[in-house]
Amino acid sequence: MPEKKYKRIDGRAPDELRPFSMRVGILKNADGSAEIRLGKNWIIIAVYGPREYYPKFEASQERAILNCRYHMVPFSTTERKPPKPSRREIELSKVIREALEPALILEEFPEMGIDVYIEVIQASGGTRVSSITAASLALADAGIPMRDLVVGCSAGKVDGKIVLDLNEEEDKEGEADLALALMPSLNKITLLQMDGQLAPDEFKEAVELAKKGALKLYKAQIEALRKRIEEMR
Ligand code: ADP
Repeated sequence: MPEKKYKRIDGRAPDELRPFSMRVGILKNADGSAEIRLGKNWIIIAVYGPREYYPKFEASQERAILNCRYHMVPFSTTERKPPKPSRREIELSKVIREALEPALILEEFPEMGIDVYIEVIQASGGTRVSSITAASLALADAGIPMRDLVVGCSAGKVDGKIVLDLNEEEDKEGEADLALALMPSLNKITLLQMDGQLAPDEFKEAVELAKKGALKLYKAQIEALRKRIEEMR
């Protein structure tokens, strides 16, 4: 009898992403905007700027200041989440900013600020990496000069297997969870975080798998930008 293929709780193969879609230019008021859906995750991004930075005395004479605000709406999870920014949201705002910054040519805009608002409408594991993917699209939509797009993807270990793109249950119950963001054309990693434990060879395998997933998402990023340009013609 052939060996039964390993299936995950949602029926995916170990190296399979959840179904996903991306759209650019979804908000009329913002300078740039984007949306990503990945499994049950649904995230909307609005970018404003470059615009004059306030308070002025905190502006930089060398470059634009990038501000990111990651926020989960109170109805984004099954358990109602308090509206006040949590420590997790404050930390993720910083982590996401640091993952995006290396791709942006901020030196072109001294004294300016760029604001990236991330609203998680529905959350289901891996929202930080999906926020990075969509934020980079919204920044491109705003016309911010970039060295490369940034794309995020997660991998981890569940039931002893290295798997791609953990859903919420896998994230909570798995042995390890790794978040990676990548500038694909430059092949530079801008975010690498891990929860749990992996042996060195498992870590390598998870990084390679997350990179592979990121490259698939990168193709969809390019496609979403192309569609946006066609719509504007
Ligand atoms: P990430 O979303 O980047 O994986 P975490 O590992 O911190 O970040 O969170 C994993 C998942 O747990 C989230 O995607 C979300 O589905 C859920 N979650 C996070 N914070 C809360 C919260 N305050 N209440 C309920 N669920 C939450």
